[in-house]
Amino acid sequence: MPVNIAIDGPAGAGKSTVAKRIAEEFGYLYVDTGAMYRAMALFFLQKGIDGRDEAAIEAACREVSVSLEYRDGAQQVLLNGENVTDRIRTEEVSRMASVTSVYRAVREKLVQQQRELARRRDVVMDGRDIGTAVLPDATLKVYLTASSRVRALRRFKELKERGEEVNLEAIEEEIIRRDERDMNRALSPLKRANDAVLLDSSEMTLEEVLREMEELVEDAGSRGCCGC
Ligand code: C5P
Repeated sequence: MPVNIAIDGPAGAGKSTVAKRIAEEFGYLYVDTGAMYRAMALFFLQKGIDGRDEAAIEAACREVSVSLEYRDGAQQVLLNGENVTDRIRTEEVSRMASVTSVYRAVREKLVQQQRELARRRDVVMDGRDIGTAVLPDATLKVYLTASSRVRALRRFKELKERGEEVNLEAIEEEIIRRDERDMNRALSPLKRANDAVLLDSSEMTLEEVLREMEELVEDAGSRGCCGC
C-alpha cells in the first residue's frame, strides 16, 4: 500500500513549503492540488467565463484537461498540454480558483485524478479536502493552520521581497474572504478531518513545523509498515 500523507488547511498556512520538504526528505511525490484548481480557473478566465455562471463552467469542464508532470522533482501543471505553472500564481487566478472550486463539475474532474495518483505512488498531497474527501484513508492527516494575521504577514513579506507594492490590511481581507468561501461551500468545504493532527503554526518557526511533521511522518511510516 502506498504511503499517503494529506495536508489540509487555509491559504498561506505554509502547506506547500512543508509538503515539498517532506516529499524531498522521504522520497514521496508532492502533489499540489491547489495548482490544479488554479489551472482550471486560468482556463475559465481565458475563456472570459463569469465565475458565477455554473452552466458555462460545467460546459467548459468538458473541454479542459489539467495534468501534472514532474521536472527534476518539481511539479509542473499543464493546461490542455501547455505548461502554465508560472501563470497560475496571480491574485486574479487565486480568487477565480476559490470562486470556481465550489462547483461539482470542477471538483469531480480533479478529485478523480488526485485519487488515481495516490493509488499508484507514495504522495504528500496538500489542499483543502484531502483528508476529508480525496483520501479519507490516508496514512497520516495533518491540518496545518495559522491566524489570518500571521498568514497575511507572511504573504506581505514575500510580496515585498519581490518588490511588489503591497498593503497588509488588503492582503488579510482577501485571505479572510477566501477562507470564508473555502470553509462555507456546500461541496467538500475546508475543515479538519476528525482524525487529522492539528498543527497551528501561528507561533512556530518553519523549522519547528518541519520537525513536528517529520516526527509525525516517521511515526505514521512505522505504523503502516511490517516493521522490517
Ligand atoms: O492552495 P491554493 O491556494 O493554491 O488553492 C487555490 C484554491 O483552490 C483554494 O482557495 C480553494 O478554493 C481551491 N482548492 C480546493 N480544494 C483543494 C485545493 C484547492 O477547493 N484540494
